Order: sequence, then structure tokens, then C-alpha cells
Amino acid sequence: MKAFEWVSPTTVQEAAELLQSGSTARDMDEHARPIAGGQDLLTTMKDYATRPVRVVNLKEIKGLNRIEGDARKGLRIGALVTLAQLEDHAVVKRSFPGLAEAANSVASQQIRNLGTIGGNLCQRPRCWYYRLEEAYCLKKGGSECFAVNGENKYNAILGGGPSYIVHPSDLAPVLVALGASVNVTGASGKRVIPLEKFFTLPSEGSIRRENVLRNDEIITEIQVPASALAAHSTYLKFKERDSLDFALASVAAAIALDAGKKVREARLVLGGVAPIPWRVPKAEAFLAGKTLSASVLAEAAKLALDGAESMGKNEYKIPLTQTLVRRALAKVGGVTS
Ligand SMILES: Cc1cc2nc3c(=O)[nH]c(=O)nc-3n(C[C@H](O)[C@H](O)[C@H](O)COP(=O)(O)OP(=O)(O)OC[C@H]3O[C@@H](n4cnc5c(N)ncnc54)[C@H](O)[C@@H]3O)c2cc1C
Repeated sequence: MKAFEWVSPTTVQEAAELLQSGSTARDMDEHARPIAGGQDLLTTMKDYATRPVRVVNLKEIKGLNRIEGDARKGLRIGALVTLAQLEDHAVVKRSFPGLAEAANSVASQQIRNLGTIGGNLCQRPRCWYYRLEEAYCLKKGGSECFAVNGENKYNAILGGGPSYIVHPSDLAPVLVALGASVNVTGASGKRVIPLEKFFTLPSEGSIRRENVLRNDEIITEIQVPASALAAHSTYLKFKERDSLDFALASVAAAIALDAGKKVREARLVLGGVAPIPWRVPKAEAFLAGKTLSASVLAEAAKLALDGAESMGKNEYKIPLTQTLVRRALAKVGGVTS
């Protein structure tokens, strides 16, 4: 790991200014970085994928580790709330079950005790070419996505190109499904960003980033609105190893039903298959007004993977994700699939 300066500000404003003044290097991977639980940042530093000149510790900033609200008001979740806090929180478990399930699905208890929601949303890709020190891939400023002609078993089937990473966060799909937004503070001000507009495809914005955050900006809070969708939400994740692992594919589903048990609104967001949490509006529109049945679930699953393309070794993700979509909808709709 390259040597770095460690600073521990006590206010968000001070942290943003330290990030700004530490971001003058020509290579963006050397710019100052915030650290929360360190469960991802330190691994990218050990792999030399990032080499920040300054690491800005957020843990001394008070007030960012609280969960407030309820089903009626919605949730306000501080960026330093740990995944363990989220999965154990009574209101989250009862009224936002998909969010509790997603938090519980991350890694191991030890990682969830330290890893935060802010860090989870901003974690970097797990693509092994990106993580391999010797591979100077597109994400690091190189000219090639080595997954295209290489080992692409874990890469994107949707929305990829020219880089084919998948977004690794388990919380992102469910937070997008629930219509969450993030409060962000930078050296020159604050803004609120709907999470659906937070993540960026490699073909948009900078290929070297996964979201719209500027270098001096910090997520301070995640807001999850109250909605009829939250109570009927779930997160299903398929892993290669049953112990700790990232998603080969995952699905966040949330539905609101009317009095006649017809779908009033449906949200479906796929994880582990695209460079961003992948919302599937065609399948959502198809579900609206329908009574859920095995055939409706099958058609929704087909539509959800519309446009999916195999890179060679990741074709299995298409039927796998379709199965997860059917199961997730069956679970939230109380249908036997
Ligand atoms: C073995 C292992 C298995 C894992 N498995 C999973 C998994 O199954 N699912 C999953 O989703 N994740 C997984 N992770 C990834 C990750 O460590 C955790 O999800 C965790 O939530 C990261 O949070 P952190 O606070 O430790 O982040 P940090 O490591 O502190 O930060 C991660 C990134 O976010 C930035 N950052 C942190 N906080 C903020 C903020 N408030 N505002 C702006 N930027 C910020 C940092 O600069 C850094 O780039 C795994 C990690 C390991 C090591």
C-alpha cells in the first residue's frame, strides 16, 4: 500500500474541504478519499487500484450513525449507519423488509458490523481485472476492458460497454426500488440526489467512476420515502458460495396491491448483472393492473431480461435472474410460482 496522510475531521464541512484540498493530483485514483468502515477502500488501496494521498476518516463526525423515522414518515438513515444496525433495526425489519434482507445478505457478520450504508453505495467494482494490480484496464485509465475477451463469468449482461463491470452493492437495488435519495455535502454546498440518478453507466459520465459524486462530496444521509411499496418489498440474492459472497445476480422487488389484489404499482431492480442497479420499466409496466399468477410472473421475468446479452461465459445469468424475478414477485405477491 502506498503511504498516505490520515486526517480525522469532526464536521462534514471540514471533511469536504479536506477532500477538496487533497484532490490536486493529475490521476484521480490519487485523490483524497473518505473512509467509513474501510471494508472496501482498504482493499482497493492494497490492490493499488486506488492510491489516495490523503484518507479522510468520517467516523469522528457526530450524528451520522442514526436511523430515524417509521413506515408513516419514511426513513432517514445516516451514512455511517452500519449494515448490522440496519438488518437489526425493528422498524426496518417490520416496515421495510427488503432493506433488512439486503443488509443481512452482505458478506459476513464481522464485515456488516463495520461496513456502512454510505460505503456500501460507494464501493468500487469487484471485477478481478479492476482489482488485479497488473491489469491496467479501462476503469483505471487504460484502453481495454479485459473481460470482453477474457474471464467474463461475473460480468455484465445488461447496460455494459465499453466497461463491463457489475455494481457490487446489495443495498443499491432495494434502495432504488424504494425510491430513496441521498443527501450530499461538498465543499461548496449541499444537494439531494435521487438514487436512481446517482449511479452512472460506463457509457455516460466518467468511465472511471460509478456515480455522480464529485471528489469533495460526501453522502451524509439516505432518505427512504414512506410508500405502500415498502411493506411488500424483498431482496433475493444468488451467490456462488453459500457463505460470504457477492451476488451473481439479485433482485429487489416491491409491489403495492389494490383492494382487489391487483398490482397498483411494481418496482423491480436487478443487481449483479449491470454496471448500475438495473431497473426494468417494461416488466413494471406489464405488471400494473394484473393479478399475479404463475403465467404473469413468467412473462414479467422474460421482460425483465429484455436486451440481456451474454459475453460468452456469463450466459447463465439470464435464466438465473429470470428465476429470481419470478421468486421475488411470488414472495411479495403471496403466489405459488
Ligand atoms: C470479503 C468481502 C465481502 C464483501 N461482500 C459484500 C457483499 O456481499 N455485498 C455488498 O454489497 N458488499 C460486500 N462487500 C463490500 C463492502 O465492504 C461492504 O458492502 C461495506 O458496506 C462497505 O462499507 P464501508 O463503510 O466499509 O466502506 P469504505 O471501505 O469505508 O468505503 C467504500 C467506498 O465508499 C467511499 N465512501 C465511504 N463512505 C462514504 C460517504 N459517506 N460518502 C461518500 N463516499 C463514501 C470510500 O471513499 C470508498 O471509495 C464485501 C467486502 C469484503 C471485504
